[in-house]
Amino acid sequence: MIYKKRTMPNELKALISLDKRLPNNHAKKNAVQKNLHIYQAGYNGELEYDTYIKEFQPDYPHAILHDLYLQQDGAYFQIDSLLITPSSITIVEVKNHKDKTVIKANPTQFIRVFQNGDRRPMRNPYTEIDRKIHLLNNWLDNRNIQIPIDGILTFAHTNELAIEHPSPEMKTMLTYEAPAHFRSLPVNEHILDGHAVHNLALALLEHHKDYNPFPLADLYDINPADIAPGVICPTCDRPGMQWGREKWNCQSCGHAGKNEHLQTVQDWFMLIKPKMTNREFRYFTQLNNRNVARSLLAKSGLQLIGERKAAHYVLMKEKSPTH
Ligand SMILES: [Zn+2]
Repeated sequence: MIYKKRTMPNELKALISLDKRLPNNHAKKNAVQKNLHIYQAGYNGELEYDTYIKEFQPDYPHAILHDLYLQQDGAYFQIDSLLITPSSITIVEVKNHKDKTVIKANPTQFIRVFQNGDRRPMRNPYTEIDRKIHLLNNWLDNRNIQIPIDGILTFAHTNELAIEHPSPEMKTMLTYEAPAHFRSLPVNEHILDGHAVHNLALALLEHHKDYNPFPLADLYDINPADIAPGVICPTCDRPGMQWGREKWNCQSCGHAGKNEHLQTVQDWFMLIKPKMTNREFRYFTQLNNRNVARSLLAKSGLQLIGERKAAHYVLMKEKSPTH
């Protein structure tokens, strides 16, 4: 049973917004677009894995949690996907590169081979998975749970993978091979019964925190003034929707709607800073009327803090991305 589905990561959401609002000639444009493509490819690879793993439906108790972000020993660690069975836990790392990957053992080496033939060593993902196994082991230890933890490395099915002899230390496969791998796992010793599998999945869910990279202006060292304001039309993707006759109107394609500022407000919190005044709202939506701004802000799902000149809005606590 799937206890946690995957949603688009915060950093990818924010990069999509930042790319729309950063001028083409900006010094950070290339870095932003490069990261956007890496995050998008990574997310696509993970979604592909999730699709294949749906066919894994064993008759023993099990739990699947996608995209977990946990803290242990003062360190954070992120798990692309986790499988709990009665006799083991598997941490799954999903990679998606458009280049060919060569994996050598003794010593372990990962080499990316680019389309022009260039070869470049890449960071060894097994080391990263070992770190996650170690931290999860300690996390479970604190809760008096002792169960073997294994790791597998999967690559999106479109990736070209060359595993050289001898075979590497950790199971490495394409995403569509993962369900067959899991079916082949022996489930003999029942360390966890159905109740314990369920409770462990709930405990992991409870301790999961969304990774919060906001605001991106700080993370990428971009002057907020360089980030273009304006309400972006959801139909034609152009900025500059204007408020009139109780709705937002796109001059380019004619689209109109009442809630188009909600994405603009979200963009502000993801890109600029964690609070917003009425004046900042008017600047970022390019709206003139202070009273219209107040009534739109009141319907934006935000919390108003302070009075008069100190008044500002923050994200609602339960919706607020946590650290
Ligand atoms: Zn439009």
